[in-house]
Amino acid sequence: MDTRNFDVIVIGAGIAGATCAAALAPTHRVALVEAEEAAGYHSTGRSAAFWILNYGPPDVRTLTGLSRQFFEHPPAGFTEHPLTRRRAMLLVAPAGQEAQLQTLLAEGIGLRELDVAKAWELVPALRPGYVRAAAIEEDAFDMDVDAILQGYLRQVRTHGGVLALRHRAGRIERQDGVWQVETSAGARFAAPVVVNAAGAWADEVARQAGLPGLRLVPCRRTAAIIDPAPWQVADWPMVNEVAHTWYVRPEARTKLLVSPADQTPTHPHDVQPEELDVAIAIDRMQQGLGIEVRRVERSWAGLRTFTPDGSLAFGWDKRAEGFCWCAGQGGYGIQTSPAAGRLIADIIAGRDPGEAGRILPAVDPGRFAA
Ligand SMILES: Cc1cc2nc3c(=O)[nH]c(=O)nc-3n(C[C@H](O)[C@H](O)[C@H](O)COP(=O)(O)OP(=O)(O)OC[C@H]3O[C@@H](n4cnc5c(N)ncnc54)[C@H](O)[C@@H]3O)c2cc1C
Repeated sequence: MDTRNFDVIVIGAGIAGATCAAALAPTHRVALVEAEEAAGYHSTGRSAAFWILNYGPPDVRTLTGLSRQFFEHPPAGFTEHPLTRRRAMLLVAPAGQEAQLQTLLAEGIGLRELDVAKAWELVPALRPGYVRAAAIEEDAFDMDVDAILQGYLRQVRTHGGVLALRHRAGRIERQDGVWQVETSAGARFAAPVVVNAAGAWADEVARQAGLPGLRLVPCRRTAAIIDPAPWQVADWPMVNEVAHTWYVRPEARTKLLVSPADQTPTHPHDVQPEELDVAIAIDRMQQGLGIEVRRVERSWAGLRTFTPDGSLAFGWDKRAEGFCWCAGQGGYGIQTSPAAGRLIADIIAGRDPGEAGRILPAVDPGRFAA
């Protein structure tokens, strides 16, 4: 078996692996190793593509905030299309959720209370009497996930990095200070550093390297596209129920993405939507919005993978030299990705990560070692 030598092997070409590889490629020889025949086939290609600052634990919020500049002003040549479209996020509190809304307002940044009548003006399909209190994050936006992913992959290639599709990393061994990664395509990649960016499979990849996993939990989330006609939804905000049991977001100007915000623990696999979850999404949405659903145009499910405490798992594994985690992105992997990729690259290159460095204690994978 021929061995190809690199400085860093990144396992997994979802958004996590792609951003790490792109941030490393200008200074390191990088191999980005992906099991599937297309990058982004799993969680990255199945997201709701939305950026919200007031979402997730503090480490996530920090990286989300630090990523904003990149999405709004990507470097020259990164993309031919804008990566974002401004869209507010409307939080609606039905009866019983008013106190929870006040807590979110107290903790939030750039989140402000909105008059119920104003919420109704923004989303006229809201059922009269449903909303008891509301809040709005005006600076949120839709993201063009495919353009983001392709831009990062282009950066990898431009700097001489290798994207190896259809290469599932199998045996991973460290010999004489170098990791050897054998793949399903019969190739062997060698490098002193491995980045584990395998999403739902990250624990499995660790075990292949002889390390215990972090007890990551992949959770299924479902989304469906419906036609909300006669409602004109293009300029609606994203609508999120405060208790987060459903949300909707306009899609492609005339459609609506609906999700029951499900979070069903499962194992790493090519997850498919359950009809029941789609029905629940529509039922919950219809309690808040007077939208008739004649037909579901398409539906899908993806995995959101969480660590036991819900924060990220980023950094060196102290039990194995040269093994770096980039896992546990949960439901925030796209919106945090530019800053996350830079942070992992800075850790590997031994550079000062600047402001992002303040989250390092909270995201240290060593916290699960016991
Ligand atoms: C319905 C839904 C809505 C979401 N909405 C949002 C949102 O609005 N905003 C947001 O920021 N995030 C959202 N997310 C979360 C986001 O999609 C994920 O956090 C993100 O895509 C995770 O990226 P990843 O690269 O870690 O994982 P993935 O994209 O799954 O990539 C991991 C890759 O590793 C590969 N791999 C696994 N094992 C191996 C191996 N042994 N060898 C080689 N390759 C391997 C896999 O094939 C896969 O391509 C949503 C997710 C879902 C499911």
